[in-house]
Amino acid sequence: MTKKSTLLFLFLLSLLTSSVIAQDKSLNLQYVLSLPKPESNYCHVDVQVEAWSGDTVYFKMPKWMPGYYQLMHYAKAVENFSAKDEQGKSIAYKRVNENTWAIAGAKRQSFSLSYDIKADKKFVANSIVDATHAYLVTTGVFMYPDGFLNTPVSVKVMKGSWTKIATGLQPINGKPDEFTAPDFDILYDCPILIGNLEELPPFQVNGIEHRFVGYDLGNFDKKLFMENLKKVVTASVSVIGDIPYKQYTFIAIGPGRGGIEHLNNTTFGFSGEGLDTSEGMNRMMNFLAHEYFHHFNVKRIRPFELGPFDYDKGNNTNLLWVSEGLSVYYEYIVVKKAGLTDERTLLSNFDSNVNAIENNPGRLYQSLAQASYATWNEGPFGTQGTEPGKSISYYDKGPIMGLFLDFKIRHATQNKKSLDDVMRSLYWQYYKKLQRGFTDAEFQQACEAVAGISLSDTFEYVYTTKELDYFTYLGYAGLQLKKESTVTNGGEKKVKFTIERMDTLNPLQQSMLTSWLKENP
Ligand SMILES: [Zn+2]
Repeated sequence: MTKKSTLLFLFLLSLLTSSVIAQDKSLNLQYVLSLPKPESNYCHVDVQVEAWSGDTVYFKMPKWMPGYYQLMHYAKAVENFSAKDEQGKSIAYKRVNENTWAIAGAKRQSFSLSYDIKADKKFVANSIVDATHAYLVTTGVFMYPDGFLNTPVSVKVMKGSWTKIATGLQPINGKPDEFTAPDFDILYDCPILIGNLEELPPFQVNGIEHRFVGYDLGNFDKKLFMENLKKVVTASVSVIGDIPYKQYTFIAIGPGRGGIEHLNNTTFGFSGEGLDTSEGMNRMMNFLAHEYFHHFNVKRIRPFELGPFDYDKGNNTNLLWVSEGLSVYYEYIVVKKAGLTDERTLLSNFDSNVNAIENNPGRLYQSLAQASYATWNEGPFGTQGTEPGKSISYYDKGPIMGLFLDFKIRHATQNKKSLDDVMRSLYWQYYKKLQRGFTDAEFQQACEAVAGISLSDTFEYVYTTKELDYFTYLGYAGLQLKKESTVTNGGEKKVKFTIERMDTLNPLQQSMLTSWLKENP
């Protein structure tokens, strides 16, 4: 190729590239979500596509929802799919696999799609539509054009006779019940709750509004509840020292189990029943602290593999013990920092994790890193694998690992640094500065940089099945493990552990325990 033709080629290439970019930008996607007969457990979706410039277009439904690391096969709920051109004439399409619809010959034209979604499963990672409300998991409702996950989208919600919509999506000014997302990742990060919802009076932390909206909240002391929740948010923010969103919404989807974290909201099963006892209130505050703390830990402070999301295959990582396990650790710590619980209750939380680990033979077969990686196959809590008794849950060993790391760092630095410093450094270094996740090695390096020593011994508890050395690690902070053997009603032998203070503490143990237990002023 001569120089002249190279220049011509480059010129033509640049024309081509700029036209491709312009076309990408002009692709316009508008979704309308309607609920013509909610009592039938269906919702309806219309998609208007403008300025499509390709030929065959593939529309895909994600197979899972970030935050719930299981393939959910949402496309199974799609019924009555159709595609039409500008004149309303049907366009041929083919369902080429479980979750992909190919629409042929759509070149340079506007067209529309429509389909129904059967929504009859009451669970935080599934959509439910009934006569009283609708909770829509957006990964299971809105298909995306393959290759265009970065396209902005708008969603109009036809809420019918219901009064309110709760979602983390950005409302469009001057267009009631219309929302926008800069890309599909944000759309998929914002479930939508519709119904005659109740909103509790919001509170501010550092000048930022925090809302609580829900369906069928029930009767409880709502003033006390919001005061406690504000303390939880304040204590969580104090760990990292920054609030990265403009508004945050707690979205209570009705009685049921489970919660899923998002960037500026969380959706969770909720009932006001039981909140009149201190245990019930404590349990709820732990639960909400966990979901809330996730907006830092996993949504922003995240493993390298958890972004960009692969909505077909899922994203395996060794580090869910950090994302989930340390969020359990911080749920305990934050509720204590918030002044909502006492030392005994804090330690009891860890007792339950120790008892779960030590009574599970799986601890000798599977490491924390393996449990993290394998959760896609083994079920959400690591207990439903094909080989029962050979797997563990990072929800149990993860928080103990958090405790070990925290105490090790405090011990190594004469109580000048803690795991909080690690979380802060990950937030500023990887989320804010590098805008990516961290690898396994980078997580360990971040811990070692704060501790000022090698932590390879401690990390053996992550990558091997070495038995946990409670004596040494709890001992750093003047704590110890008491062991009792019990026999259950079924005749099964169990061991029961309780974490307690030692009788006498040296000055470093005393200062570590005091600062670890310290409440925020
Ligand atoms: Zn979690």
